[in-house]
Amino acid sequence: MTQQSLGTQRRTGHINGRAVDTDDSFVVLDPATGRPLADVAACGAEQVDQAVTAARLAYESGWKRTSAAERATMLRKISAAIVANGQELARIESQDTGKPLRQAVVDVNFAARFFEFYSNMVEAVFGSIIPAGTDRVTFSIREPYGVTGHITPWNYPLGLATRTIAPSLAAGNCCVLKPAEEAPLSTLRLAEIMSDAGLPDGVLNVVPGRGPEAGAALAAHPGLGKLSFTGSVPVGIRIGQATAANLVPADLELGGKSPNIVFGDADLAAASKVVAQSILQNAGQTCSAGSRLLVHRSVHQELVERLVRIFADTTLGHGLDDPGLGPVISRKQQQRVLDYIALGRGEGELLVGGGAPGDPALEGGNFILPTIFDGVSSAASIAQQEIFGPVLTVTTFDDTDEAVSLANGTDYGLVAGVWTANVGRAHRLIRDLNCGQVMVNTFSNGVELPFSGRKQSGYGTSKSYEALLGFTQTKGAVIMMSEQ
Ligand code: NAD
Repeated sequence: MTQQSLGTQRRTGHINGRAVDTDDSFVVLDPATGRPLADVAACGAEQVDQAVTAARLAYESGWKRTSAAERATMLRKISAAIVANGQELARIESQDTGKPLRQAVVDVNFAARFFEFYSNMVEAVFGSIIPAGTDRVTFSIREPYGVTGHITPWNYPLGLATRTIAPSLAAGNCCVLKPAEEAPLSTLRLAEIMSDAGLPDGVLNVVPGRGPEAGAALAAHPGLGKLSFTGSVPVGIRIGQATAANLVPADLELGGKSPNIVFGDADLAAASKVVAQSILQNAGQTCSAGSRLLVHRSVHQELVERLVRIFADTTLGHGLDDPGLGPVISRKQQQRVLDYIALGRGEGELLVGGGAPGDPALEGGNFILPTIFDGVSSAASIAQQEIFGPVLTVTTFDDTDEAVSLANGTDYGLVAGVWTANVGRAHRLIRDLNCGQVMVNTFSNGVELPFSGRKQSGYGTSKSYEALLGFTQTKGAVIMMSEQ
């Protein structure tokens, strides 16, 4: 394995355009080696309060008076700055999360694209004139919330931070962002890059820290106008309770157990590549991972054979060496996935993988072999629970009704992939699948497509024009005519 390191470094919070250090700190580890990468200031309630105050001041003293065109210009500069610093950001992201470098490059480009997309969209946010009578003018306008809070997970730190701060800033809010303690480094660098690009002090503040301290303090802060949370179901519920206590609205983007549904008429060469990619990408640590394969009995054997070949041929290594698969984020996450694999041995037939690799060169890292369990009943734990690792379950179906029932048969409802040449069937599944996004003959989507959950996958819409509207609130106004 190539020994490439960012070197151990001290990183601080970013409040009101300045580096803010604390007495307390936490260590960030390289998931591929277990070695320390950085020592990061652990912000707590005091720094969160400073950050919310700084954001409020920046909002009142300037940002709320900016025109949509001015904010669009700023967002375009940020997008260009992310691209200009793209190589550095991608290397930080790859080393901090363990993901293969080419995936980190995709994530950085995605981050830049969010700012570009919302710079284009923000000048198209209109209120409306309402025909309530000829003696008055009745209309609505859209206003920002003021200060928005953002709490993000470790799996796509840059992509998920920019997914919500770009529309929030575009809408005219100022932000306080708490990245995950496992992988905060790209977000901290992003804050510096945005400042250097000309974003005024206090408009974006980043408070690294532990969830129960910095995260809880941010979620419970009464100075927020809105909170956006991306993460697990149990923490999401706690966040929803904390924001409700202050009557602060929250978007909760939570977990998933998403299916790829492959019918007998599907293009199996294309489907097999994408099904494999949808669970191996980011070592299966993707909210919208295609972690369940539902396959029609007529093509089950051929598809499974193709998948086993792809999984068996996938190389493992350090993210910076750009392997097929990197490590999972932590020892704790590795153990959690291994526990599910142990459970899976009693719930299905293990076809490939099934544990940590034996390679001594990978010993220090949190690696898991790409794993497939076949013949898994829909009630099995490994088919119901989010494993968040490179583990695919395979369940066979005989007709469309059964496919829909299996697909909808978990507590989650995030996304689904449908593989068929039959347009009528595709339409039927788009209608009947109880999830936020359906992708037919693909499993990819861009920033333009609304992304939302059903059931335990949460609520609120990210990406798309709708997310921009979601960071605004409506005000109604009426003006009576004095002369008629
Ligand atoms: P997590 O819920 O443990 O942590 C997410 C964030 O919440 C982190 O910043 C963490 O520090 C913070 N946090 C933890 N405890 C907190 C508390 N008591 N109060 C306030 N904040 C707290 O999730 P994770 O393990 O980092 O991420 C994995 C989960 O995220 C998976 O379930 C995955 O499906 C989900 N996810 C969802 C989406 C989506 O868009 N739906 C995207 C990515 C990840």
